[in-house]
Amino acid sequence: MRAAVMEAVRKPLVVKDVPDPSCPSNGVILRSEAEGVCRSDWHAWSGDWSWIGLVPPMPLVMGHEFCGVVEEVGKECHNFKKGDRVLVPFSQGDGVCEYCRSGQSHVCANPSLPGFSYWGGYGHYVGIPNADANLVPMPEGVGFEEGASMGCRFMTSYHGVVDRAQVRPGEWVAVHGCGGIGLSAVHIAAAIGANVIAVDLDDAKLELAKKVGAQHVVNGKKTDAVMAIFDLTKGGAHVGVDALGVKATCLNSINCLRKQGRSLQIGLTTAAEKGEVALPIDRMVTMELALIASLGMPASRYPSMLQMVEAGKLNPKSMITETIGLERASHVLEQMTTFQNVGVSIINKY
Ligand SMILES: [Zn+2]
Ligand SMILES: [Zn+2]
Repeated sequence: MRAAVMEAVRKPLVVKDVPDPSCPSNGVILRSEAEGVCRSDWHAWSGDWSWIGLVPPMPLVMGHEFCGVVEEVGKECHNFKKGDRVLVPFSQGDGVCEYCRSGQSHVCANPSLPGFSYWGGYGHYVGIPNADANLVPMPEGVGFEEGASMGCRFMTSYHGVVDRAQVRPGEWVAVHGCGGIGLSAVHIAAAIGANVIAVDLDDAKLELAKKVGAQHVVNGKKTDAVMAIFDLTKGGAHVGVDALGVKATCLNSINCLRKQGRSLQIGLTTAAEKGEVALPIDRMVTMELALIASLGMPASRYPSMLQMVEAGKLNPKSMITETIGLERASHVLEQMTTFQNVGVSIINKY
């Protein structure tokens, strides 16, 4: 099969033929039809995250944001058949631990992650283990490109905004960082009735944020984001979202809150923070602020999100700014180093 292979840190991916994957007995072979280029790929590609022990084994076919068609089914997989269109949540479980059995497979005791634990959607075929526990049938009305984005960034924001921060209609939500996760958070919070302020350093990203649902935008390069949010909300946001994972967005998401506000931490940090940011604990205590973390989304929560997509209330497609071939994936990763890319890029030509 054709694949874009990572052979060295920060070096261009090599597009070439590699052996097809073999079918896991409890899994499927999926023909990937679309794959998003996500900032988590950039982290792996740049050699980030080594401080949490995440050093990708190379050569590696990355890709954890994909969907496609089932080509082959293992003997112990019972819920899927050849020809099924399926979505692939990146946060996968073993299906048997106490978390999986209670529908919380995204925090499985033995998690696996396509594109890291096994070769992912930067290759045309993917062998996916534990398919019954992890794959999600894809509704006919959902296209492959938008399906791919629901494998990571869109579903991560949905779980964070809806399940974890429990955003309510009429609340002020300030989203810090307007990459794929941030734009999705803006769109989802607006769709469920919140008033959304989008913050970024790039006017092009803020324009897109307005298109997908932001009521106000703040360019943090030109103005103090926290003060601007206090002015717009007359006293602070109910919910802040750190959709990037750097010190500045983490702290702004907390500092922009009104009393009893909650900050949703979605992004993992970078090499600069190495997983640690000093927090304003006294402010958090005296204002009763909450810090809520969120990771992916379990397969069990997909029906709720997909019903909103089918009803036209959520539109993951609105975040997609380009579709590309495998050869172009490296270029998108390089753009991410300097935050040049706007919106979501999807590989749909293998
Ligand atoms: Zn991702
Ligand atoms: Zn599990």
